[in-house]
Amino acid sequence: MELYIEKIVITPIAITDPPLLNAAGLHASYALRTVVEIITNTGIAGVSEIPGNEEVNKALEEIAPLLRGWDPFQLNGLQRLIHNTFGADKPDARGDAPWDQRKVVHIFSALEVACLDVIGKYTDRPVVDLLGGKMRDEVPFAAYLFYKYEGAGGRLGFDMDPSAKGWAAARQQAAIDPQGVVDQAKAMCREFGFQSIKLKGGAFPPNEEVNAMLALHEEFGGMPLRHDPNANWTMGSALSYGTKMQDVLEYWEDPVRGQKNMAELRRQMKVPFATNMCTTSFDDFPESVRLHSEDIILSDHHFWGGLKASMELSRLCMTFDRALSMHSNSHLGISLAAMVHLGAAIPNFSYALDTHYPWQSEEIIKGGRLAFENGAVAVPEGPGLGVELDHAALQSLHNNYLECGLTERNDEIEMQKVNPDWSFKPVRW
Ligand SMILES: [Mg+2]
Repeated sequence: MELYIEKIVITPIAITDPPLLNAAGLHASYALRTVVEIITNTGIAGVSEIPGNEEVNKALEEIAPLLRGWDPFQLNGLQRLIHNTFGADKPDARGDAPWDQRKVVHIFSALEVACLDVIGKYTDRPVVDLLGGKMRDEVPFAAYLFYKYEGAGGRLGFDMDPSAKGWAAARQQAAIDPQGVVDQAKAMCREFGFQSIKLKGGAFPPNEEVNAMLALHEEFGGMPLRHDPNANWTMGSALSYGTKMQDVLEYWEDPVRGQKNMAELRRQMKVPFATNMCTTSFDDFPESVRLHSEDIILSDHHFWGGLKASMELSRLCMTFDRALSMHSNSHLGISLAAMVHLGAAIPNFSYALDTHYPWQSEEIIKGGRLAFENGAVAVPEGPGLGVELDHAALQSLHNNYLECGLTERNDEIEMQKVNPDWSFKPVRW
């Protein structure tokens, strides 16, 4: 039977987000996401979710009419169409920007994942089977700790729910010192069963962050620990403070900026290096291999151009002796489901993946939020991604988007609301 795209619906949403600190500033009360639905002539609805950004949304609106009548199996042609329409991403779109601002990879990821969801539903197979099949039934994730101010995000800013219990209560608490970080880790691990821990750093002076990592080691013993200052430490700080904590780290994520600095520092240390900042595209790979800038690539299907491209990255990583794991932004269950299908398919899996999911409290999929068991998420059952959109919930979060007035992520502006003298510095400490 003929199968073609009849309609594409693009819905920007805003999800409440706690005041999390990072090298780029402070998370706003809302994180933006964009949900794409591809409806076919046969009535199949395929979905995907990407980071929200007005420019990307406009580009999706621009390309959507061109895809009316498109066969969703034709993903190579879709890629060419996107490149012919928008050109390639500018080389500086990642560069020193605090986070990934590339347009083309986001557009392709949004459309590719929704097409794969369609194909899965059309063929009655889960997406993991479209990626070559399941290597594991469940995918482990890491506890993702943040330095944070008190509050859980939302309409009133840092508003609190005094009736919250368990992790819902703990996620509102401030964590600005080693004890706060340890308390946060205990609450998060108790709730989700995580068996690896990452601290987002770059927010406080290196000695304070080293003390937090040592306190985590003290509390959690042999639990694998990671620290990620988002490349905002100097080479000197990284060498002297990194040496103090390297023995307790499973890997160190982007201590310094750029492949050259990463490679130089890596040679002087005895801890594996990971990145989601210096090697972020296939174009970066030759120089990564030449310099050996990292040991682990933290992929992200939203940034590497979709799920099939991530499988190609997996093969490249095996060829050049890199491990592969995953980066995350604030996200909901559609992105999580896609990450789980991919995580279940990649053969070279040795590190629990990142996820911000515990920091979010809302959901747009039927049946509510996906469950973690012992820190892992089972591959969703059913064809495609195995999730269905809850249109009422989607509408409600779209209303948030319309009301909150945000059009792109800007953690610097949010930080300046708290500390007017603060400005983003690519290298701070
Ligand atoms: Mg990172």
